[in-house]
Amino acid sequence: MSNENLGFETRLLHAGRDPAAQNGAVNTPVYRASTILFPNLAALEAKEGAKLRYARRGTPTTHALEDAICELEGADRALVAPSGVNAISTILMAFAEPGAHILMSDSSYGPARKFCEFTLKKFGVETSYYDPTIGAGIESLIRPETRLIWMESPGSQTFEVQDVTAICAIARQRGITTAIDNTWSGGYFCQPIRQGADISVQAGTKYIAGHSDLMLGTIACRAEVYDRLRETYLRFGVCIGGDDAFLALRGLRTLPVRMAQHHKSGLQVANWLLQQPEVLRVMHPGLPGDPGHALWKQHFTGASGLFGFVITQPDRPALGRMFDGLKLFGMGSSWGGFESLLVPANPSVYRSATQWAPGGQTVRIHVGLEDPEDLIDELRQGFDRLAG
Ligand SMILES: *Cc1c(COP(=O)(O)O)cnc(C)c1O
Repeated sequence: MSNENLGFETRLLHAGRDPAAQNGAVNTPVYRASTILFPNLAALEAKEGAKLRYARRGTPTTHALEDAICELEGADRALVAPSGVNAISTILMAFAEPGAHILMSDSSYGPARKFCEFTLKKFGVETSYYDPTIGAGIESLIRPETRLIWMESPGSQTFEVQDVTAICAIARQRGITTAIDNTWSGGYFCQPIRQGADISVQAGTKYIAGHSDLMLGTIACRAEVYDRLRETYLRFGVCIGGDDAFLALRGLRTLPVRMAQHHKSGLQVANWLLQQPEVLRVMHPGLPGDPGHALWKQHFTGASGLFGFVITQPDRPALGRMFDGLKLFGMGSSWGGFESLLVPANPSVYRSATQWAPGGQTVRIHVGLEDPEDLIDELRQGFDRLAG
């Protein structure tokens, strides 16, 4: 069901659902399958064109998720993968050919860079990294052999907002494909394809799943690049199971209400952090003082619960006291679940075109769905322990 007259939330609730086709059940059930049987020889012979053919190539549950991702991202087509990293490497691989050049934002997710540096390099693909705030200046970095421009906005760990519209407009003139990691917005606060990007990728593991119980990657794209992406996707045998697709669809139905709360609570905590003497800087594009704020207002309708801040450099024992006493905040990789997380970060190890030297310890915070006052209390106690 795709009806542009309906509100975004309404469309998201209906995307990928057809109760009449499922004996009235509200949700598309889990199809556990490998073999798909054909009723007769003629149908078997016509399987090339069949929507269902072999479960590696999709089931009603994974197709429902793809339809819902199209609605979420404002995309023509979608593919789903077993992790965000797999979705990223599938896209990068699809545009790799000997001698090709890729431009990647210096603030991109670490494993995306690693795929270029370790895997693509072996196949003669060169990647160069650019300042995420470059905007239209990207033009001077384009080479005749540039095939793909990779963006992530806001950037992993450091949260620079990119001028996606400007970069995509230039890429389009030059016939270069653009891809962007849209994990931060969950797709709910930003639809980069509507802003000119060809491909929007997400770690569905984060906000789409929303409950820290699922690994998932989503690739949403324009029709023009779908065949190329799907070819690579099929050659690698990328697919996901029905249970995971079901959990992702379930998460998606509550995405709007969760994101609205992450936005509100995240800003409340960010504003509190701004006022603390231990805090040198808060990297949250929703704050009016943030360098990316104007672009963020142009490209996003809200902010997720993930941002960063920098504290006066503590010694290791003090940092240990602060983090080891945490009760509500968990320490661990990932984010986008209902729960809050706090981890020290070291973004400088992922950079080459720009420097990250904020003059203190960088911390990454995910503000979950707890009462934000409780989170603020715990941060205050953490800063007290830091001081000794
Ligand atoms: C977590 C993350 C990924 C990778 O997703 P996985 O599902 O963990 O493989 C990609 N991009 C960003 C921005 C992420 O935060």
